[in-house]
Amino acid sequence: MYVCPVCGYPSLDEVPRPPFGGGSYEICPSCGFQFGVSDDDRGYSYRAWRAKWIDRGMPWDSEGVRDAPEGWDPARQLQNVLGPKSARDQMLVDQEFKYGPDSGDLP
Ligand SMILES: [Zn+2]
Repeated sequence: MYVCPVCGYPSLDEVPRPPFGGGSYEICPSCGFQFGVSDDDRGYSYRAWRAKWIDRGMPWDSEGVRDAPEGWDPARQLQNVLGPKSARDQMLVDQEFKYGPDSGDLP
């Protein structure tokens, strides 16, 4: 399992950029980035694609093809690539504002 360098999805099947060059041609089910195509052929940087994806509201890109993992949390997943602080800066504050703090198992 490998982490998507764009969105932090932790379960890619292949190394996105193998050391011998080129891309894996795997499409990240989370953000839709295809390594070797979105970057090499279409010229997107990870950062640009990530910004676009965040802008679209961080949708699960494989809707109808492959289900999102149980309890999928794109904002939390982003921490895998951005680190807790900047991911928090970008998204979590927003999320917490919208949904309120986790109330746990209180009755
Ligand atoms: Zn991704």
